[in-house]
Amino acid sequence: MSEDYYSLLEVERGASQDDIKKSFRKLAMKYHPDRNPGDKAAEEQFKKIAAAYEVLSDEQKRRQYDQLGHEAFTQGRAGGAPGGSGFAGMDLNDILSQVFGSGFGGGGFGDFFGGGGRQGGPRRGQDLLYSLRISFEDSMFGKEQEIEIPCNETCTRCNGSGCEPGSSKKTCPRCNGRGQVAIQQGFFNMVQTCPQCRGAGSVIEKPCRECNGSGEVKRHKKLTFRIPAGIDEGQRVRLSGEGEPGYQGGEKGDLYIEVSIDRHDLFERDGSDLYCTLPIPFTVAALGGTVKVLTISGKRDLTIPAGTQSGAKLRMKGMGVPTQRRGRGDLIVLIRVEVPTNMNSEQKELLKKFAETDKDNGIYPKVKAFIKKYL
Ligand SMILES: [Zn+2]
Ligand SMILES: [Zn+2]
Repeated sequence: MSEDYYSLLEVERGASQDDIKKSFRKLAMKYHPDRNPGDKAAEEQFKKIAAAYEVLSDEQKRRQYDQLGHEAFTQGRAGGAPGGSGFAGMDLNDILSQVFGSGFGGGGFGDFFGGGGRQGGPRRGQDLLYSLRISFEDSMFGKEQEIEIPCNETCTRCNGSGCEPGSSKKTCPRCNGRGQVAIQQGFFNMVQTCPQCRGAGSVIEKPCRECNGSGEVKRHKKLTFRIPAGIDEGQRVRLSGEGEPGYQGGEKGDLYIEVSIDRHDLFERDGSDLYCTLPIPFTVAALGGTVKVLTISGKRDLTIPAGTQSGAKLRMKGMGVPTQRRGRGDLIVLIRVEVPTNMNSEQKELLKKFAETDKDNGIYPKVKAFIKKYL
């Protein structure tokens, strides 16, 4: 399968860059996949001529190709040159966008070889991540939140081109619009991103005054969004289209707000349920009764059944986390029975009398069972 790049492009060995361009353009149109839908052979041919053009359109690569010959050149490149192994392993779309820039898909061959260069094609802007600390209460019920974030926005003076209005980009003189430059390293031909245009293939003649040629300006923008009720630690809110601007008309990235939640000194969360610990007097535990509990919706009555022990868990249905999907969780109240301290003599007397009514621990089944088994 020994092929020669010159014969692939149907040009003489001494052909000028202009001739090579013209011929490549003609062949590219002939074999372009859009004109040969489903034709694998045409696609293969298109890749081959693209690879040939990549080398022959670069004077430095072309010189090496001429010196080494096809076989040695392609082997050397495949083994030793990152990014320099031609288009062989690349996706067809990458080839198209690299060779034709963004103008190919919609605008046909109109801006063939003009401007854009290798990096052409719309690209989606980057997603951004923003950390937000919120109170426990806000995580429960949600809230309207305003944040101010630093952002890069497309410069309005130059519409993101980086060129002062009235001026334009010119082909990078260092790399001739290739976006890459070759450097010789021993036998191998190493390919580097062009340091002058940083791979863009074009340079700005007169940088925009507003953005200094970057095409972007740093701003702070205020965003208002709703924190959904029941949001949990580490969950993210997505603000569609509030990320970095896209390149060359690509869509904007998204902004993700990742929340961390302040601890609450009473409530702990587990999924959609909440937990709290409630001390109750031993008389209420023994006789039963109603006590006040603090829930996230305010104070509520909780019925304590007679004989409730320390460590009992009482479930208050629907008083947990207001989640969106599963409805509201429960509040689980962990009971701690408190025995009296600092009693006065009258209280002590009453308790002694009470104790005397139960000589054989009949009202304390666990105490009784323990004594019987171990003592
Ligand atoms: Zn600008
Ligand atoms: Zn360059």
